[in-house]
Amino acid sequence: MTAKTDEYRTGVRPIWCPGCGNFGLLNALTKRVLPTLGIAKHKAFVVSGIGCSSRVPAYIDTYGFNTLHGRAVVIAQGAKLARPELTVIVIGGDGDFFSIGTGHFPHAVRRNLDITCIMVNNFVYSMTKGQTSPTTPHMETQKGLLPNEHFYPPVDSMLDMLSYSVSTQSSFIAQGLSTDVAHLDSLIREGISHKGFSFISVLTPCPTFHTEEVFDTIKRNASYLVEGEPVSLPESSKDKPWLHDPSDVTLALRLAEDPVMERAHLGVFFRGTEREF
Ligand code: SF4
Repeated sequence: MTAKTDEYRTGVRPIWCPGCGNFGLLNALTKRVLPTLGIAKHKAFVVSGIGCSSRVPAYIDTYGFNTLHGRAVVIAQGAKLARPELTVIVIGGDGDFFSIGTGHFPHAVRRNLDITCIMVNNFVYSMTKGQTSPTTPHMETQKGLLPNEHFYPPVDSMLDMLSYSVSTQSSFIAQGLSTDVAHLDSLIREGISHKGFSFISVLTPCPTFHTEEVFDTIKRNASYLVEGEPVSLPESSKDKPWLHDPSDVTLALRLAEDPVMERAHLGVFFRGTEREF
């Protein structure tokens, strides 16, 4: 028997700051994704590392595990191999996934195990009080928006994830906003339904360590991808728009090159081959 919508929440009260984007992800998972897919509580495993977003397993009444920083993707793959009937969801932040944890991703894509990774990207180490993270935009491109300027070029998580798919043509890669729960719900549900590795980037505000203008800029310049419709490129782009085709990883890589502050593309970037067993 599957659970009712409100039964996916534990009695633990979230301790996130008011306005934190993590509430949007929690609502998407517990009020929409799990009940809509009809996943029974004892058939789901939610695993995380360390960070603000990694508190999610405490708030969802399924199997859960708050593991080591950067290692949740490894635990998730082990769980899926041991218990293939479980829906396995991994939650992590940009610091967790793309610093100490980044080496796990090429192999997760290559193995193409049926797990869904959700990266909550707020461009900052929030739990440890606002240090630059691997995805913090570079000081020359963030236009003075962030207090914690980055001296080095940032890791572009979407570009890197897509590059891991080039060899094997596998994985499902998408991006949404924590503030658009309906759209995020559809992306996560498609990621879970995709038989193979899925990665969903969730752009999200951290009102404690960033000004409102940071996320407002991302939202203002964002554009939704629609299959078969022309993509919307930033003004600085010299390319001509093409019709969005999520089966083409080369086009997906080109989309991911656009700086997130200038044009955050939202939707399915790439839908690769699924597992046959
Ligand atoms: Fe959310 Fe930022 Fe507060 Fe962490 S510090 S709970 S990411 S608003």
